[in-house]
Amino acid sequence: MANTIELKVPDIGDFHDVPVIEVMVKPGDHVDKDQGLVTLESAKATMEVPASTAGVIKEVKVKVGDNVEQGAVIATVEAEDSLPSPSEREAGGEGSAPAKDPQSTSAAPPTPSKPGPSVAPSGHPLPKGEGKIAAPQAASETGRKADVECAMLVLGSGPGGYSAAFRAADLGLDTVLVERYGTLGGVCLNVGCIPSKALLHAAEVIDAAEGMAAHGISFGKPKIDLDALRDFKDKTVGKLTGGLASMAKQRKVRAVQGVGTFMSPHELEVVNGNDRQLIRFRQAIIAAGSEAVHLGIFPWDDPRVMDSTGALQLRDAPKNLLVVGGGIIGLEMATVYRALGSTVTVVEFMEQLIPAADGDLIRPLATRLKQQGVAIHLKTKVTAAKAQKNGITCEFEGDSIPDKKTFDRVLVSVGRSANANKIGADKAGVTVTGRGLIPVDTQMRTNVAHIFAIGDLVGQPMLAHKAVHEGHAAAEAAAGLKRHFDARVVPSVAFTDPEIAWVGVTEREAKAKNLDVGVGKFPWAASGRALGMDRAEGFTKLIYDKATHRVVGGGIVGVHAGDLISEVALAVEMGAEIGDIALTIHPHPTLGESVGMAAEVAEGTITDLYIPRRK
Ligand SMILES: Cc1cc2nc3c(=O)[nH]c(=O)nc-3n(C[C@H](O)[C@H](O)[C@H](O)COP(=O)(O)OP(=O)(O)OC[C@H]3O[C@@H](n4cnc5c(N)ncnc54)[C@H](O)[C@@H]3O)c2cc1C
Repeated sequence: MANTIELKVPDIGDFHDVPVIEVMVKPGDHVDKDQGLVTLESAKATMEVPASTAGVIKEVKVKVGDNVEQGAVIATVEAEDSLPSPSEREAGGEGSAPAKDPQSTSAAPPTPSKPGPSVAPSGHPLPKGEGKIAAPQAASETGRKADVECAMLVLGSGPGGYSAAFRAADLGLDTVLVERYGTLGGVCLNVGCIPSKALLHAAEVIDAAEGMAAHGISFGKPKIDLDALRDFKDKTVGKLTGGLASMAKQRKVRAVQGVGTFMSPHELEVVNGNDRQLIRFRQAIIAAGSEAVHLGIFPWDDPRVMDSTGALQLRDAPKNLLVVGGGIIGLEMATVYRALGSTVTVVEFMEQLIPAADGDLIRPLATRLKQQGVAIHLKTKVTAAKAQKNGITCEFEGDSIPDKKTFDRVLVSVGRSANANKIGADKAGVTVTGRGLIPVDTQMRTNVAHIFAIGDLVGQPMLAHKAVHEGHAAAEAAAGLKRHFDARVVPSVAFTDPEIAWVGVTEREAKAKNLDVGVGKFPWAASGRALGMDRAEGFTKLIYDKATHRVVGGGIVGVHAGDLISEVALAVEMGAEIGDIALTIHPHPTLGESVGMAAEVAEGTITDLYIPRRK
């Protein structure tokens, strides 16, 4: 039996007089349970107030521009409490929805306006094990006359810093960008993403040419001119960093070179040789990034011991290279040096290469590396390393000790540590955790309201594209826009051969959290495009919430997986259902088609594979 109830604004926290910016229903409309009624916009968030019950709207009590607060009546509805909502029916809910308490008149709790309940927006909670940290006592003003004054100071010019500075300038803030090195672009452009990918391109071409020998085209053994290859890498970097310098000029962003240290909450001192400048700023964005971890057991004063920056210098192609750490960076460099002719040994402390990714994604990569002669030793660590005349001699401990003990070069790639403890953050009153990270809210604001922090120094994942989006969010929030970093997912890519890419919920995570997910997996052995490239070892998988059918994650292993994963990231962000992807026409024959076909596998509509029906 239907009864009329009032739908009221539920508990929306400490907000009063919140404007209604959209009314989504009118009298006579049928609404499902959880269907949005109105959108409210507070200073902190835009939220949709959904119907707590299905029924027919009798009267709408608010209009756009009205201010409301908890308890205000939004609409009256003739409730059909006994009917389950379509989502409950789809989910195979047990019979009908429980009858609502007729006295219960609040709408359901407000939800962010984006769909997709299964993947929470990635906020910036304190890392595990970091409890509440007392804010440091800020230093008082130096009393010195400022050499430079600005509305916005950005410390560090990596992908986070330059993106934040450029966005701030575009929004009208007079911006200064401080960088200790002579070129802008940070780790990513100078000693990270870009030079590594230039070298990986060379490795890919060498391998592709060699692979064609089996199909009738032989190029012979490649002649490798390391000087020319280094030059290609350096020129690639130069084009991008030069481009940044001119874009900074075009935007009137003032770049100041030197090491920056906060002196107080509104002052930063920049030291460049004997030159000292004091910058006074109204707001700041800290984007000082991270550095490679240097384990103390290695003799770092010996040039044969390298971090990723040293490895990218490409001084030679050592006969024997030990890579300590089988994560993304270690394996990318192993891929480069193996293609250039080095015999490569990888030791990884964990039981899997690239431990963050699902194990099935790793297998085709591990198989290919082994076929290429790369020795992989899992659950093994280096316990000591000594510089000898004939190489670096290492001692190992673990399940799989390498026979070889002395190497011409050793690359240590065991992680990166944030630079937050090296910038005088305490003098600005900015909290830094015991692990050297800066806690921020969803607007990337630190505990000091006018200072933001972004990129590697706010925590994992330490990736350039995350830093860029955080930089935009911080700059926009600083310029007064209601902007939050509310991305649900950040895709990860290992540019190995084959590439491995994943995004959102992994199968391992789903299992650990007991999430009820389904998986659609399409093997590239059935992809005409992959077969035509003789690279059919990969696969594409989509992970979806069984109740809502929404895509919550995915993983791809195969050539160009890094280019293909964006579609899955978009699907998760948009709250797309697996059927949306299956019904999207993907061009044939492409590797991208494998994403559509993985969705068809999940839907049971695939015709490019034969999958016997379950009885
Ligand atoms: C070998 C390698 C390969 C990588 N490949 C990829 C990839 O393919 N894709 C990807 O997404 N990520 C990749 N990364 C990670 C990526 O480079 C980082 O996540 C990204 O650069 C972080 O950006 P950021 O702006 O936080 O800081 P950074 O890029 O670290 O920039 C920080 C800047 O701040 C400057 N700085 C620090 N302290 C001071 C100070 N006190 N005064 C003045 N300046 C200061 C530094 O000199 C630096 O230029 C790679 C990293 C490495 C090492």
